[in-house]
Amino acid sequence: MTKSKFKRKIYYSKTLDFQGIEINIQHKKITRIYLKISNKNGEVTLCAPLNISENFIVNFIAEKLPWIKDNQQKIHHKKKSLDIDYIDGDSIKFLGENYQLKLIKSAKKPKIYLIKNQNLINQTYQENLQIDFFNCPQNQQNSDSNQIILDYEKDLTKTQKIKLLEKFYRQNLQEILAKFTKKWQEILQVEANFVAIKKMRTRYGSCNARKKNIWISLNLIHYPIVCIEYVLLHEFLHFFEQNHGKKFYFLMNKFMPNWQEFRNILR
Ligand SMILES: [Zn+2]
Repeated sequence: MTKSKFKRKIYYSKTLDFQGIEINIQHKKITRIYLKISNKNGEVTLCAPLNISENFIVNFIAEKLPWIKDNQQKIHHKKKSLDIDYIDGDSIKFLGENYQLKLIKSAKKPKIYLIKNQNLINQTYQENLQIDFFNCPQNQQNSDSNQIILDYEKDLTKTQKIKLLEKFYRQNLQEILAKFTKKWQEILQVEANFVAIKKMRTRYGSCNARKKNIWISLNLIHYPIVCIEYVLLHEFLHFFEQNHGKKFYFLMNKFMPNWQEFRNILR
């Protein structure tokens, strides 16, 4: 998932205002015009060839404006749902489904439990994933909503809660990745040097094809398990083809014909 065209040297740049949307125009030695919206803050950047006219740029943006607005709104919504306070009743996404955060104060050491209705596990992947890694106190099990229970006798700050949850996410993601890594290494007849989890804000995965290292974003734990498998496979396929060219998508279509469905969820 490279963005090499966006990394090239900027010759000159300026900011234009379109119906209240600021667009950063960067002129580079490139042959085509590219538009990018930051996943982090919705900032819009347009990369344009050096010799392109202002008129062309203005028309290009005018045409793309509905798309820009739509995506900015999506990013804003996404950000809002990630910026929670981690108080009782907050909604947390885990493997693509909503869980209610429940704080209880009984355990001497912090513990996290996952309560899930049995029939909610994605049927296709049920055999690959057992969610019952954790035994939960009996009295919490009769809830009809999915819950993530954080149990610790002491008061926790927001940062401490995030730290504990991230540890829990990491354990789960590790287990999921281990299963899919085994599966795809067998199918593709390759072996990764390592598949590691990393906190990445703007990407879901990256790899070093030469050293056969793969990094997967911790953020993926919030998305359906099929999306995690899709990103992992995407990185594995870079071992065979480093660019996102025809050959890469030929492989992607061959091994995961419905991959675009999963990519769209991640967008
Ligand atoms: Zn890629």
